[in-house]
Amino acid sequence: MRSVLKLKKKVSPPWKKYRSDMLKSFPSPYRGENDSLADGISDAIRELDRLKPEKTGGAAFLGTNSKLTIPFDTIKNSKLNQKMNSSENVIKQVIKLFEGLPNWGHPLTMNNVNPQGNSAAIVAAILTEVFAPNILEGEYAWNTHQAELESGGILANLAGWEAAKSGCVYTYGGSGCWTYHLKYALTRVLPDSRKKGIRTDAKVICSQQAHYTMLNSTDWTGLGMDNIILIKTDRDTNAMDTRHLEEVLKKCQTEKIPVVSVVCTMATTDANAYDPVEAVRKLVDKYPNPEGYGKTLLYCDSVIGWSWIAFKNYNFKSNPLGFSEEVLPYIEKNYNAIKGIFFADAFAVDFHKTGFSPYISSVFVYKNALEFETLLSRGTSAYLQSRSPYNPMNYTLEVSRAATGSMAGWATLKFFGHEGFQSVLGGILENKVYLQNQISENSEMICVNPFDYGLVTLLRIYPKDVNAQLQFHRELKDPIHKSELVKHNQFTESIGNLLFEWFRSGKKINGHCTPYLSFTTGFRCTEYNRDQKDNKAMLYAIKLFPMNVYITPEIMDHVLDCIVAARDEVISNSDMRTHEKK
Ligand SMILES: *Cc1c(COP(=O)(O)O)cnc(C)c1O
Repeated sequence: MRSVLKLKKKVSPPWKKYRSDMLKSFPSPYRGENDSLADGISDAIRELDRLKPEKTGGAAFLGTNSKLTIPFDTIKNSKLNQKMNSSENVIKQVIKLFEGLPNWGHPLTMNNVNPQGNSAAIVAAILTEVFAPNILEGEYAWNTHQAELESGGILANLAGWEAAKSGCVYTYGGSGCWTYHLKYALTRVLPDSRKKGIRTDAKVICSQQAHYTMLNSTDWTGLGMDNIILIKTDRDTNAMDTRHLEEVLKKCQTEKIPVVSVVCTMATTDANAYDPVEAVRKLVDKYPNPEGYGKTLLYCDSVIGWSWIAFKNYNFKSNPLGFSEEVLPYIEKNYNAIKGIFFADAFAVDFHKTGFSPYISSVFVYKNALEFETLLSRGTSAYLQSRSPYNPMNYTLEVSRAATGSMAGWATLKFFGHEGFQSVLGGILENKVYLQNQISENSEMICVNPFDYGLVTLLRIYPKDVNAQLQFHRELKDPIHKSELVKHNQFTESIGNLLFEWFRSGKKINGHCTPYLSFTTGFRCTEYNRDQKDNKAMLYAIKLFPMNVYITPEIMDHVLDCIVAARDEVISNSDMRTHEKK
């Protein structure tokens, strides 16, 4: 009896075995050669890299199978495993999930403002996962807080603000920045709203081109989506029409309706529209809110356009980086448009868009730190002590915040500097101008946004022997040609869909894989449909965003060849169908 008891004592319980097995799956707290994490990361990245294509050519997605393989019908029936797995095994499963994902760094990826992240930012972001600072407050962030504080300083300086008095918070996307601005504005204009709730139908004013995230923010803050007023936009520039804005502000003032904020969108994705911030500022100041309400906030949703501010000190006359004469005026226009953020109370930056950083690295930058941080302050928490002068959790939406975004954004600022940003952005326009020139050599194609100085090229391609210039202008101007417009819109859509299918199936044209592009079903309306009441009288176009640093003129030539080939196949397929019908 005694000996049995003794024996039992000696056998270690299974949970202890699990714990000791787990040690290999947690990073070692000590310096040394056998850190499972260091080896794990390096092995996993090498393994992930094997999903990339050969340099000699391969499709713009990872791996070999581009099909969606998730069993959507059954996947939610999953249950937790009984036994513990090994982390190597799990990492293998993780890597498998990357199969088929678009390869953002591939020179044939041109579908949207989806640039590949730079390595400094990716590594910086990964490191914050290893030692997980929590940037909610100083004790858990310690020196890593420099990333957020210094980003705020650099960005405020770029905007021309007094940096020491400004501030920023990294948050969950351009949509998070929109929500931050709205909360700031609501608190400023309706001071009671923090405690009593929003009891006034105050208005948020933005342009017809504003991003749909305006719906998220007005909905989730409880202000209500019906309290958005959309201002008309100029039919050529797509910028906010300040006359209409003035009418609306005047009307609100007369009717004693408070305006919470006016939002200037600073570059829309497709039209590269910038709202005129300086003029908007004058109007906002001219029509103050009725007595009893705070001052209207002026916000710039500059998540796409912000990085052109890096041209702040560029000498456009001596052109030290040697941009081409065609491109230089475009750059200057973008810079002149974005520098209006100076007049705002707050603006937003998406490093994951035009900052070539990984997700999510968005930052909300405000001019008056004292005002923002006091207005939204909630007092300290009982279980966290202030160990540093900087404790943003007292006014942020989030409680815990990962340092991933702040470190990636900061690393990007440190990496590029003015000239890095200038070269990466100017280079996109060099590629775009090259592309536009090539398009103009082909009479069956037309670039339909030739005066747009943004990142995207929109093109329409017509059936063989159709003069694209002539046909496009007919379709744009004259309702007599509406049936042709509709037919060619469908044609554009078919070409866009075929190109997507080709990209996904690894199809080759002239021995090379085909590009990952996208298309729009309404980058603008026809001239006879300015009120956009007729949803058929809209213009479709193929979209190309040559964002990526691996793109060359040869790649652009190949992309145009692929578009022509897709056009030809769409025609021969539809010919076949008409024959079959006969
Ligand atoms: C992308 C975008 C947003 C939303 O930003 P996320 O980072 O995707 O959350 C908001 N506004 C504009 C103008 C955008 O282009």
